[in-house]
Formats: sequence, C-alpha cells, structure tokens
Amino acid sequence: MSIQTINPNTNKTIKSFDEMTDKIVDAKIEKANLTFTDWKKTSYQERADLLHKVADLMRAKKTDLAKIITLEMGKLLSQAEGEIDVSASILDYYADNGETFLADKILDPEHGAAIIRNSPIGVLLGVMPWNFPFYQVVRFAAPNIMVGNTIVLKHASIVPQCAEAIEKLFEEANAPEGLYTNLYISGKNASKLVADKRIKGVSLTGSEDAGASIAMEAGKHLKKVVLELGGNDPFIILEDADIEKTVEWAVVGRMNNNGQCCVASKRFIAVEAIADKFLEKFKEKLSQMKVGDPMDPNTELGPLSSEAAAVHLADQLNRSIDEGATVLLGGKRPEREGAFMEPTILTDLKPEMTAYYEELFGPVASFYIVKDENEAIELANDSQFGLGASIFTQDVERGKAIADQIDSGMVFINHPTWTQADLPFGGTKRSGFGRELSELGIHEFVNKKLIRISGLNDPF
Ligand code: NAP
Repeated sequence: MSIQTINPNTNKTIKSFDEMTDKIVDAKIEKANLTFTDWKKTSYQERADLLHKVADLMRAKKTDLAKIITLEMGKLLSQAEGEIDVSASILDYYADNGETFLADKILDPEHGAAIIRNSPIGVLLGVMPWNFPFYQVVRFAAPNIMVGNTIVLKHASIVPQCAEAIEKLFEEANAPEGLYTNLYISGKNASKLVADKRIKGVSLTGSEDAGASIAMEAGKHLKKVVLELGGNDPFIILEDADIEKTVEWAVVGRMNNNGQCCVASKRFIAVEAIADKFLEKFKEKLSQMKVGDPMDPNTELGPLSSEAAAVHLADQLNRSIDEGATVLLGGKRPEREGAFMEPTILTDLKPEMTAYYEELFGPVASFYIVKDENEAIELANDSQFGLGASIFTQDVERGKAIADQIDSGMVFINHPTWTQADLPFGGTKRSGFGRELSELGIHEFVNKKLIRISGLNDPF
C-alpha cells in the first residue's frame, strides 16, 4: 500500500507518505473521542465561528490549494479553484444555517409537552475519494462539526497533500486538537476501524466495492452509515430541446473534472428526431477539445487521476469494442506521457457489453438513439445506479412528468446534474443511501432525542 502524490500529467512520483501504525491510529481516535466530550458542549456560535474561519482561510489560499489538487489528481486548475470556492461556501452555509436546522422541534402530544432535540453522537469516520478532494471532505465534515461530532478522516491514497492541507486549515483556524484528524491508512484498514467502539458512524464516498466493504462492517457492528457511490447518469435529449445549449451542456456534463464526476452525464439518450443533429455537433465539440497539462489555462481536458485509472478505462473500452461497440470518436490513449485518454464516443451498445452497465469514469460518452420519450425513460432506468439524470426539453411540464418516472436521487431539467450547498445530494439503488448538503445533510449523524415533559397525574 502506498500513499503517494504522483502527478498524473507526467506519472512522476512527487512525494510519499508513511502509512500510520495501528498505535498511532488508536491514539488519534482516542484524542478525537476525548475532544468530543468538550466539543459537544460548545455553542453553535463557537462552532459557526470556526467554520467561517476555515472558509476564510480557504479563500485566502485558493490558488495554492487549487494547485495541490491539480498536481495530485489532474483537475484543470480553473476547476480546482472553483472547487475551493464551493467548499468555502459549504462551510459558510452550515455555519450560517446549522443552528436553525438543528433547533428543537416542538411536538404537540395529547398530554403534557414534548420536544425533539438533535444531539451529537460522537466520533465519525469519513472515507473520501480523490475526485473532489476538498469538496467531498467538506460536505461531510462541515455539517457534522456544526452538530457537535468530531471527525477522523481517511482520504484517498493518491491525494495525501490535499488531506494534509485540509487538516492544516483546521489547525490554523485554531480548532481544538482532535476535532478534525487525518488517518493515513489503506482502505482495508479503514473498513476494520468501523468496529472500533469509539467510532459512532461512518460516511463513505467512492466505488460500490468500497461502499459494500464499509456497509458490511457497519452492519456487523450496528453503526449508522451514509454511502455516496457511483453513477451512470442518463442525459435525455427530446426532439424539442434547444440544440445549441443542449450540446454545450452535454460537453460540460461529460467532460467536467476530466470526465470523473460521480454525477457526470454518462449515457446520452437522444430521440431519433434530433439524434443526428445532436451527435454531429457533440462530436465536433469533443473532437476540438484541447488535451494537455491541467495547469495550462488553455487546456480543456487534462489527464485521468492516475495511470491505474487510465489503464482501467482503456480496458473497459477495449472489452466493449471486442464485444461489438462502435467507436465514433477517440477510443485510445494519446501518444504522450501521463494518464491521458482521448475524448471518446461509443455507440451500438447492448446490455451484454461492458460499457452498457459499468460506470466509465473518464472522458467517454455512451450514445444511444431511441424512438420516443417512453423508450428514453425505459433506457434511462435500465441501470443498477440511480444517482443523477438530466432531461433537455423546452417544455418544462413535460420535463417534470418525465422526472417523476426516472429512478434516481436527483433529476435536472435543462442542466447537467450539479451541486451547491443548499441542494440535497445523493442517490438510490446502487448509488448509495443517505443525503449530503442542504438541511437533509446535517441530520444524518444526530441522535433525534425525544424529551417528554408530563404532569405527574397524566395517564400512563
Ligand atoms: P474508491 O476506490 O472506492 O475510493 C474511495 C475511498 O474509499 C478512498 O479513500 C479509498 O482508499 C477507500 N477504499 C477503497 N477500498 C476500500 C475498502 N475496501 N474499504 C474501505 N475503504 C476503501 O473510489 P475511487 O475510484 O477513488 O472514486 C471513484 C468512485 O467514487 C466512482 O465510482 C464515483 O462515481 C464515486 N463517487 C461518488 C460520489 C457520490 O457523491 N455519489 C462522489 C464522488 C465519487 P484508497 O484510496 O486508499 O484505496
């Protein structure tokens, strides 16, 4: 197991980190547990002040932090700066709204009085992926710090400097030691930690395999778990869609983050009346994308996060081609160093082919033509995932009626699936369970404690 920064633009190793020993991990969890006994007594104001401070520091260091993201996982620098902005906005959002979201709920029972009080539960384990190395962490940590919980975080092994930078932001904001703590450990060891009595809940964002491993441990040890897993989002193009805008959003939906978003638009499903027109323009735009160094402001498509990710994607493509899929554009690794893949469009996909059901985590669009709206809905739902979905139509009522029939956690009309602090995020089916962000996200790891006040002579 290696925890390393390897620049995916060159595949050169930049820095290595030692995995923490069991003894160190134990001491870190113990400290987080001790800190919980104090942190749970702090006021919402104190917690909010801390989150605002972390947000301010993040904004002040935006470019430096963004460069670490780009160095470690290859995101375009401008998009990495955007990620820092969104992350800071999430910290502010929970600082500003957390107290209201967590306020006592007054009930009106038949006798006496009752309230529901939201109490913190203790140390939480976060297991996070590399694809949005700041945003993913913040959307889990910010609401829970506001609740009064404390956090131990196992970040993806390929972004250790991002992990380090986030922990440092909390230190610089004068967070008490043990409130937010990195664990430099392997995924396997993270699963084992779920059994620890001091860990009261676990949240994982990542692949189905990692999710299943964590959920198995959580089930065995009766711990609350939130899972944000993969997706194979449909992008439905109806005959009345505005073609220019739809193509623009299709490019963003598929290629943002070099094609590595859980909620990327992955399956483009066009009704036959508009399919040729859409495909011609979509293909033209993808073929013109400037592939290169993600630090270069002129680059439009950078590398995948690692050589292993590029090899895996190339293997999925090759298997699909062998199984009969047609490549309309790209389909190969470009002749250059780094973890690159050409912008690619696949078509003629059938359920027995690799690319039909598997998530393709990179710049590869699957293209389907259907007869009509009903076929589009049927195909959209023919997936084990259910994260996001997009519908492009100029008739919003029609879009809403279709949204009702799509099995996914989020449906966007005339936009690719996207995220902001005040909108809930999460999926259904094998995309996981639980929600992050918005008011929903702050209620995942709380004890909703009933406090009942009765008159001594009230009936039993
Ligand atoms: P991954 O391999 O599952 O890694 C995610 C995290 O889980 C990493 O910290 C990883 O550690 C850890 N991990 C790996 N195996 C584990 C195990 N057996 N037990 C416990 N933890 C384990 O996922 P990835 O390839 O980095 O990320 C891509 C996947 O995440 C895609 O499927 C994507 O759709 C999904 N994703 C979902 C969302 C969402 O909100 N739904 C958001 C972003 C990404 P190591 O790095 O040490 O292996």
